[in-house]
Amino acid sequence: MPTIKRVLVANRGEIALRVIRACHEEGLTAVAVYSEADRLSPHVRAADMAVPIGPAPAAESYLDIAKLVAAARDTQCDAVHPGYGFLSERAPFAEAVVEAGLVFIGPSAAAIRAMGDKIEARRRMQQAGVPVVPGSTRAVADHVQARAEAARLGYPVLLKAVAGGGGKGMRLVREEAELDSAFEAATGEALKAFGAGEVYLEKYLERPRHIEIQILADSFGRVVALGERECSIQRRHQKLIEEAPSVAVTPPLRRRMSESAASAAGAVGYLGAGTIEFLLAPSGEFYFLEMNTRLQVEHPVTELVYGVDIVREQLRVAMGQPLRVHAGTLQPRGHAIECRITAEDPANDFMPATGVVQYLRIPGGPGVRWDGGVEEGNEITTYYDSLIAKLIVWGETRGVALERMRRALRELAIVGIPSSQAFHLRVMDDPEFQRGDIDITYLERAGARLLVGEPSPELLRPLAAVAALLAEQAAASAPTPPQPAGPTVRPSVWLATARREAIGQ
Ligand code: ADP
Repeated sequence: MPTIKRVLVANRGEIALRVIRACHEEGLTAVAVYSEADRLSPHVRAADMAVPIGPAPAAESYLDIAKLVAAARDTQCDAVHPGYGFLSERAPFAEAVVEAGLVFIGPSAAAIRAMGDKIEARRRMQQAGVPVVPGSTRAVADHVQARAEAARLGYPVLLKAVAGGGGKGMRLVREEAELDSAFEAATGEALKAFGAGEVYLEKYLERPRHIEIQILADSFGRVVALGERECSIQRRHQKLIEEAPSVAVTPPLRRRMSESAASAAGAVGYLGAGTIEFLLAPSGEFYFLEMNTRLQVEHPVTELVYGVDIVREQLRVAMGQPLRVHAGTLQPRGHAIECRITAEDPANDFMPATGVVQYLRIPGGPGVRWDGGVEEGNEITTYYDSLIAKLIVWGETRGVALERMRRALRELAIVGIPSSQAFHLRVMDDPEFQRGDIDITYLERAGARLLVGEPSPELLRPLAAVAALLAEQAAASAPTPPQPAGPTVRPSVWLATARREAIGQ
């Protein structure tokens, strides 16, 4: 049984902090790594030790396998947690960690490799009896093959990168005339993003939901499914809002999807936490999409409805201990929603925004969880993703959770950088979302009514107040200018509001 006392957290931001917290609760010490841009990040201070790993560009720091393995060795770590993104799904990283005599907190390199290749993953799933989206069984070599495949499947089709991830190298083709240019675009993008340009075709399903099943597997051969997450609110194939459970999943469907997910994990000898993504068609049929062989961004919604700490379970599995959860006893309790609060401007096509977070008021109160990795004074740069924090709420019912999210979003204040906060509030207010009437095209269809309009006065008031406070502080630290003679200056209404806001909330 591997002894783990110290864990290197090979990541940054909110997920590094999340893993460090789990290590501490599990009685382990945690070592952070940081690039020059992250010197002042909260995850660096939260860890017991922190190792600088180079300049800001990820290729020279968080993606540098040799530096991370050296950092783990130099600090006498026993294990490495990869978080999500960066090296978490790179088989060579898992191999390098194991070769250095350390435990990789995740599945085997072989499982990562099998699931990282979309065609290989589809083949394995079919063998295991898991339904897959109709599509090609191998990469298409050129336009001619692509046309033949598309004709066989019937339009619309989706071109996808074999090595795909993050929606890159994906193109929707509605008719033959669009195929050649889409093939060029998908191949070029895949080559740039993954260093491999192979693409294949899938039948494009109309208006499905994205539903995924969380699984946990231990070294005693137990695979447990922790229900579904509804992740249909997406922009450019990237999730923005997730919830658990899904209004579209009945207990019998949950059972069937969970069984498929468990077979999928079993088929690759899976270990640790993983997610099987499915598309759920309006007809009720579901199809395997892909497996993510790591912790998901949206794991907290599952934690809240199942009362399980997924990261601590990952640590236990890595230590060779059995899972603490038992399949037979698992029932979702209540409802959880997560909003990804990003430094992006929804009114400007979600362009990533950069700048310094000057003021941050974090929501609190019953049923509210804030998984953040940024604090006041931190700069959001272009080097990494635009996630500021995940705001997660729990309620006894979906309705209660929705109300709670609205309340929490109104409490949140972020000054210094545009964020998706107001956009999330509009989604919570949208009747279609409230009815749970959503699918992966929801944002495309609802976009216009969600993006227009004035920012809510409820959000503007505290922001204006804080801006006034900051101005007052700046003025107080500046040399006193000569006072003009004349009538007494009346106190500013803004300042009075600012003081009330600062005290009252
Ligand atoms: P990636 O690995 O790049 O994230 P996925 O295969 O997980 O790509 O798909 C990402 C998203 O693209 C899905 O959540 C879904 O919204 C959409 N999508 C993928 N495949 C299909 C399909 N065959 N039909 C319709 N939509 C799809």
